[in-house]
Amino acid sequence: MKICSLASGSHGNSLFVESEQGRILIDAGLSAAQIRERLNSINVDPRSIDGIVITHIHRDHVNGANPFSRQFNIPIYGHPDTLDELTLIFSGNKKITPWTGPFTIADFYLEPFRVSHDAVPTVGYLITSKEKKIVVCTDLGMVTPEVERYVKQAQFIILESNHDPEMLLNGPYPWELKERISGRLGHLSNHDTGAFLKNILNGNIQKILLAHLSEENNSPQVARQTVLEYLGSRAETTLDVIEQRKVSSVFEF
Ligand SMILES: [Zn+2]
Ligand SMILES: [Zn+2]
Repeated sequence: MKICSLASGSHGNSLFVESEQGRILIDAGLSAAQIRERLNSINVDPRSIDGIVITHIHRDHVNGANPFSRQFNIPIYGHPDTLDELTLIFSGNKKITPWTGPFTIADFYLEPFRVSHDAVPTVGYLITSKEKKIVVCTDLGMVTPEVERYVKQAQFIILESNHDPEMLLNGPYPWELKERISGRLGHLSNHDTGAFLKNILNGNIQKILLAHLSEENNSPQVARQTVLEYLGSRAETTLDVIEQRKVSSVFEF
Protein backbone atom coordinates (compact mmCIF):
# COMPACT_ATOMS: atom_id res chain seq x y z
CA MET A 1 0.00 0.00 0.00
CA LYS A 2 0.95 3.64 -0.38
CA ILE A 3 0.10 6.27 2.20
CA CYS A 4 0.49 10.03 1.99
CA SER A 5 -0.77 12.72 4.31
CA LEU A 6 -1.97 15.75 2.33
CA ALA A 7 -2.45 17.67 5.59
CA SER A 8 -2.87 16.89 9.28
CA GLY A 9 -4.00 19.21 12.07
CA SER A 10 -6.86 21.41 13.19
CA HIS A 11 -6.77 23.48 9.98
CA GLY A 12 -7.47 20.53 7.71
CA ASN A 13 -6.96 16.79 7.43
CA SER A 14 -6.78 14.48 4.45
CA LEU A 15 -4.95 11.20 4.07
CA PHE A 16 -4.41 9.44 0.73
CA VAL A 17 -4.26 5.63 0.74
CA GLU A 18 -3.61 3.47 -2.31
CA SER A 19 -3.87 -0.31 -2.67
CA GLU A 20 -3.33 -2.47 -5.75
CA GLN A 21 -6.81 -1.71 -7.01
CA GLY A 22 -8.12 1.31 -5.15
CA ARG A 23 -7.49 4.84 -3.97
CA ILE A 24 -9.27 6.55 -1.10
CA LEU A 25 -9.09 9.70 0.98
CA ILE A 26 -9.69 9.53 4.71
CA ASP A 27 -11.29 12.92 5.41
CA ALA A 28 -11.29 15.92 3.11
CA GLY A 29 -10.79 18.89 5.41
CA LEU A 30 -8.80 21.13 3.06
CA SER A 31 -10.54 23.09 0.31
CA ALA A 32 -11.28 21.06 -2.82
CA ALA A 33 -8.68 23.11 -4.72
CA GLN A 34 -5.99 22.37 -2.12
CA ILE A 35 -6.80 18.66 -2.17
CA ARG A 36 -6.54 18.64 -5.96
CA GLU A 37 -3.22 20.51 -5.90
CA ARG A 38 -1.71 18.31 -3.23
CA LEU A 39 -2.80 15.13 -5.04
CA ASN A 40 -1.29 16.53 -8.23
CA SER A 41 1.98 17.13 -6.37
CA ILE A 42 2.25 13.36 -5.80
CA ASN A 43 1.07 12.61 -9.36
CA VAL A 44 -2.38 11.38 -8.40
CA ASP A 45 -5.27 12.32 -10.69
CA PRO A 46 -8.21 13.39 -8.48
CA ARG A 47 -10.60 11.57 -10.81
CA SER A 48 -8.94 8.29 -9.84
CA ILE A 49 -10.11 8.50 -6.20
CA ASP A 50 -12.71 5.80 -5.44
CA GLY A 51 -14.13 7.24 -2.23
CA ILE A 52 -13.91 9.89 0.46
CA VAL A 53 -14.25 8.37 3.93
CA ILE A 54 -15.32 10.72 6.73
CA THR A 55 -14.41 10.33 10.42
CA HIS A 56 -16.67 13.03 11.95
CA ILE A 57 -18.45 16.31 11.29
CA HIS A 58 -15.77 18.81 12.35
CA ARG A 59 -14.87 21.26 9.60
CA ASP A 60 -11.19 20.33 9.58
CA HIS A 61 -12.31 16.89 8.35
CA VAL A 62 -15.13 17.70 5.92
CA ASN A 63 -14.49 21.18 4.53
CA GLY A 64 -13.71 20.16 0.94
CA ALA A 65 -15.63 16.86 0.89
CA ASN A 66 -18.76 18.05 -0.89
CA PRO A 67 -17.16 20.22 -3.61
CA PHE A 68 -14.46 17.60 -4.25
CA SER A 69 -17.06 14.84 -4.45
CA ARG A 70 -19.21 16.83 -6.87
CA GLN A 71 -16.33 17.98 -9.03
CA PHE A 72 -15.00 14.47 -9.60
CA ASN A 73 -18.13 12.39 -8.97
CA ILE A 74 -16.67 10.58 -5.96
CA PRO A 75 -18.83 8.88 -3.29
CA ILE A 76 -18.63 10.06 0.32
CA TYR A 77 -18.78 7.35 3.00
CA GLY A 78 -19.60 7.96 6.64
CA HIS A 79 -21.65 6.98 9.68
CA PRO A 80 -25.36 7.61 8.94
CA ASP A 81 -25.62 10.12 11.82
CA THR A 82 -22.54 12.00 10.62
CA LEU A 83 -23.94 12.26 7.09
CA ASP A 84 -27.36 13.28 8.47
CA GLU A 85 -25.79 16.12 10.41
CA LEU A 86 -24.03 17.26 7.27
CA THR A 87 -27.23 17.22 5.18
CA LEU A 88 -27.21 20.98 4.67
CA ILE A 89 -23.62 21.02 3.46
CA PHE A 90 -24.13 17.90 1.32
CA SER A 91 -27.62 18.83 0.06
CA GLY A 92 -28.36 17.47 -3.39
CA ASN A 93 -25.19 15.37 -3.51
CA LYS A 94 -26.19 12.02 -5.04
CA LYS A 95 -23.02 10.26 -3.96
CA ILE A 96 -23.65 10.15 -0.19
CA THR A 97 -23.13 6.59 1.04
CA PRO A 98 -23.85 5.79 4.69
CA TRP A 99 -22.20 2.67 6.06
CA THR A 100 -23.77 0.56 8.80
CA GLY A 101 -20.69 -1.45 9.75
CA PRO A 102 -17.54 -2.66 8.00
CA PHE A 103 -17.63 -1.91 4.26
CA THR A 104 -15.53 -2.24 1.13
CA ILE A 105 -14.23 0.22 -1.45
CA ALA A 106 -12.35 -1.44 -4.34
CA ASP A 107 -10.05 -3.96 -2.60
CA PHE A 108 -10.10 -2.09 0.72
CA TYR A 109 -11.98 -3.49 3.71
CA LEU A 110 -12.75 -0.71 6.19
CA GLU A 111 -13.72 -1.34 9.80
CA PRO A 112 -14.93 1.74 11.67
CA PHE A 113 -14.55 1.93 15.44
CA ARG A 114 -15.82 4.52 17.91
CA VAL A 115 -13.55 7.02 19.59
CA SER A 116 -14.22 9.45 22.44
CA HIS A 117 -14.54 12.99 21.00
CA ASP A 118 -16.93 15.93 21.21
CA ALA A 119 -18.61 15.16 17.90
CA VAL A 120 -20.73 12.05 18.29
CA PRO A 121 -20.15 9.79 16.49
CA THR A 122 -16.44 10.10 15.75
CA VAL A 123 -14.71 7.04 14.35
CA GLY A 124 -11.29 5.70 13.47
CA TYR A 125 -10.78 3.20 10.66
CA LEU A 126 -8.85 -0.04 10.40
CA ILE A 127 -8.16 -0.45 6.69
CA THR A 128 -7.15 -3.81 5.27
CA SER A 129 -5.96 -4.68 1.78
CA LYS A 130 -4.49 -8.11 1.13
CA GLU A 131 -2.73 -8.92 4.42
CA LYS A 132 -1.79 -5.32 5.15
CA LYS A 133 -3.50 -3.22 7.78
CA ILE A 134 -3.42 0.51 8.39
CA VAL A 135 -5.19 2.28 11.23
CA VAL A 136 -6.23 5.93 11.20
CA CYS A 137 -7.11 7.26 14.63
CA THR A 138 -7.21 11.00 15.36
CA ASP A 139 -9.50 13.29 17.37
CA LEU A 140 -9.89 11.31 20.57
CA GLY A 141 -9.70 12.40 24.18
CA MET A 142 -8.74 9.05 25.61
CA VAL A 143 -7.66 5.56 24.63
CA THR A 144 -10.52 3.15 25.20
CA PRO A 145 -10.28 -0.66 25.09
CA GLU A 146 -11.99 -0.48 21.68
CA VAL A 147 -9.30 1.87 20.35
CA GLU A 148 -6.58 -0.42 21.67
CA ARG A 149 -8.19 -3.48 20.11
CA TYR A 150 -8.16 -1.92 16.64
CA VAL A 151 -4.91 0.04 16.73
CA LYS A 152 -2.82 -2.92 17.78
CA GLN A 153 -3.92 -4.98 14.79
CA ALA A 154 -2.26 -2.61 12.32
CA GLN A 155 1.27 -2.68 10.94
CA PHE A 156 0.99 0.97 9.91
CA ILE A 157 -0.39 3.34 12.54
CA ILE A 158 -1.57 6.91 12.07
CA LEU A 159 -2.30 8.19 15.57
CA GLU A 160 -3.01 11.59 17.05
CA SER A 161 -0.33 13.24 19.19
CA ASN A 162 -2.09 16.57 19.56
CA HIS A 163 -0.46 18.66 22.23
CA ASP A 164 2.21 19.09 24.83
CA PRO A 165 0.36 19.57 28.15
CA GLU A 166 2.77 22.30 29.35
CA MET A 167 2.54 24.24 26.10
CA LEU A 168 -1.26 23.96 26.20
CA LEU A 169 -1.44 25.10 29.81
CA ASN A 170 0.85 28.09 29.27
CA GLY A 171 -0.37 28.89 25.78
CA PRO A 172 -2.76 31.53 24.43
CA TYR A 173 -6.03 29.55 24.39
CA PRO A 174 -8.93 30.56 26.66
CA TRP A 175 -9.46 28.33 29.67
CA GLU A 176 -12.59 26.60 28.32
CA LEU A 177 -10.77 25.61 25.15
CA LYS A 178 -7.80 24.29 27.14
CA GLU A 179 -10.22 22.18 29.16
CA ARG A 180 -11.96 20.94 26.03
CA ILE A 181 -8.72 19.91 24.33
CA SER A 182 -7.28 18.10 27.34
CA GLY A 183 -10.61 16.50 28.35
CA ARG A 184 -11.89 13.01 27.66
CA LEU A 185 -13.77 14.25 24.59
CA GLY A 186 -10.85 16.28 23.27
CA HIS A 187 -7.45 15.28 21.94
CA LEU A 188 -4.58 12.99 22.99
CA SER A 189 -1.44 14.62 24.38
CA ASN A 190 2.05 13.51 23.37
CA HIS A 191 2.28 11.68 26.71
CA ASP A 192 -1.06 9.88 26.22
CA THR A 193 0.12 8.75 22.81
CA GLY A 194 3.62 7.74 23.98
CA ALA A 195 2.29 5.68 26.90
CA PHE A 196 -0.32 3.95 24.73
CA LEU A 197 2.17 3.12 21.97
CA LYS A 198 4.66 1.76 24.50
CA ASN A 199 1.92 -0.56 25.72
CA ILE A 200 1.12 -2.01 22.31
CA LEU A 201 4.51 -1.81 20.55
CA ASN A 202 5.34 -5.12 18.90
CA GLY A 203 7.51 -6.47 16.12
CA ASN A 204 4.71 -6.27 13.56
CA ILE A 205 4.52 -2.50 13.64
CA GLN A 206 6.42 -1.09 10.67
CA LYS A 207 5.55 2.60 10.81
CA ILE A 208 3.93 5.06 13.19
CA LEU A 209 2.90 8.52 12.01
CA LEU A 210 2.11 11.05 14.73
CA ALA A 211 -0.85 13.09 13.50
CA HIS A 212 -3.14 16.05 14.17
CA LEU A 213 -0.43 18.05 15.96
CA SER A 214 -1.53 21.41 17.31
CA GLU A 215 0.41 24.25 15.69
CA GLU A 216 0.02 26.38 18.83
CA ASN A 217 0.56 23.78 21.56
CA ASN A 218 3.00 21.34 20.00
CA SER A 219 5.78 21.02 17.46
CA PRO A 220 7.00 18.09 15.38
CA GLN A 221 10.24 18.03 17.41
CA VAL A 222 8.49 18.06 20.79
CA ALA A 223 5.96 15.39 19.77
CA ARG A 224 8.60 13.09 18.33
CA GLN A 225 10.97 13.56 21.26
CA THR A 226 8.27 12.96 23.88
CA VAL A 227 6.97 9.82 22.21
CA LEU A 228 10.51 8.50 21.74
CA GLU A 229 11.08 8.89 25.48
CA TYR A 230 8.37 6.26 25.91
CA LEU A 231 9.37 3.99 23.03
CA GLY A 232 13.15 4.18 23.27
CA SER A 233 15.68 4.83 20.52
CA ARG A 234 14.82 1.54 18.78
CA ALA A 235 11.69 3.25 17.53
CA GLU A 236 13.56 6.13 15.87
CA THR A 237 13.23 4.79 12.35
CA THR A 238 9.63 3.64 12.91
CA LEU A 239 8.40 7.04 14.01
CA ASP A 240 7.51 9.98 11.74
CA VAL A 241 5.42 13.10 12.15
CA ILE A 242 2.86 14.39 9.64
CA GLU A 243 2.21 18.10 9.48
CA GLN A 244 -0.39 20.73 8.71
CA ARG A 245 1.39 22.61 5.96
CA LYS A 246 3.40 19.86 4.29
CA VAL A 247 2.48 16.99 2.05
CA SER A 248 4.26 14.04 3.66
CA SER A 249 6.52 11.53 1.95
CA VAL A 250 4.70 8.77 0.14
CA PHE A 251 5.15 5.84 2.51
CA GLU A 252 5.09 2.36 0.97
CA PHE A 253 4.59 -0.82 2.88
ZN1 LIG B 1 -9.72 17.38 13.89
ZN1 LIG C 1 -12.60 16.84 15.78
